[in-house]
Amino acid sequence: MNCLICNSEKLIFIDTIVSDFVMARIAPEIKDNYKTQLCFCEECSFAFYSYRLNEKEELKLYYHYRDEEYQRLRELSEYWYTKKINNLINKDIFALEEQKKIIKKILKDNCINNIEIALDYGGNEGRTFWDELGTKEKYVFDISGLKTVEGVINISNYEDLKNHSYSFIMCNMLFEHLSNPISVMKKLSTIGGNDTVYYIEVPSENPFLKGNKFSIARHLELVLNPNYNLLRLAKYYFKTRKEPFMPMKEHINFFTVESLKKMIELNGFKVIDIQENPEKSVLGTTIVLSALFKKQ
Ligand SMILES: [Zn+2]
Repeated sequence: MNCLICNSEKLIFIDTIVSDFVMARIAPEIKDNYKTQLCFCEECSFAFYSYRLNEKEELKLYYHYRDEEYQRLRELSEYWYTKKINNLINKDIFALEEQKKIIKKILKDNCINNIEIALDYGGNEGRTFWDELGTKEKYVFDISGLKTVEGVINISNYEDLKNHSYSFIMCNMLFEHLSNPISVMKKLSTIGGNDTVYYIEVPSENPFLKGNKFSIARHLELVLNPNYNLLRLAKYYFKTRKEPFMPMKEHINFFTVESLKKMIELNGFKVIDIQENPEKSVLGTTIVLSALFKKQ
């Protein structure tokens, strides 16, 4: 196995499994969880699971994302994922505003304004736009079949994406979920022009670093958050102690500044700016990586 981003062979492995919830979504008929390895690239610091979901499994996992059935199944093994939590995430207007603030900041810091035609790649209903982002046209590429909000046009076919010349293409909180991040980078490259400004946002995560979000401090933050049920959190905590290290859940790629930069540069782009900002949501604070880039 080589690094998915930089192709290096210098990898460190930790044996683990695919989580109960992901198994229940992608292969409910299988009794024993698939084995996998959490891999860390010593060259570019990218981390990922060796098991990659195929297209069918990806569809099964993300089908009707965060609907009632998704929540019910998830709570069976992730006891803290109650209806209340699911509803809070689905209606988290606060997190959306935080996300917009971060995008506005990086655009302003780099004097990028006058964005006439904007695309949100994988942007669900297209809620991440604001008035000045796509003053002439706002598009969202999404295959979930969700109805877009007023003023945003849905494109559900990849070929149709090429019919417009975008000033700005953004891709928020998607790459950490992708089985094949490089193929999406290549797609992004084909739909933008030489003047297109690109933006990618991912969580800043490194399971191989001490003191990060997978640490005890992070668990403390959970306990202090009134949205969680403490008993359920405790029950879940004891369950995870019996499991291998970090079973594979929805995040299958973990980015750092370094690995995100590598991914952008190795796919024919040049980085304009990379920032690390805290983003608050009802479930706590996430550190996010924001990258602004253009074609080389
Ligand atoms: Zn690497």
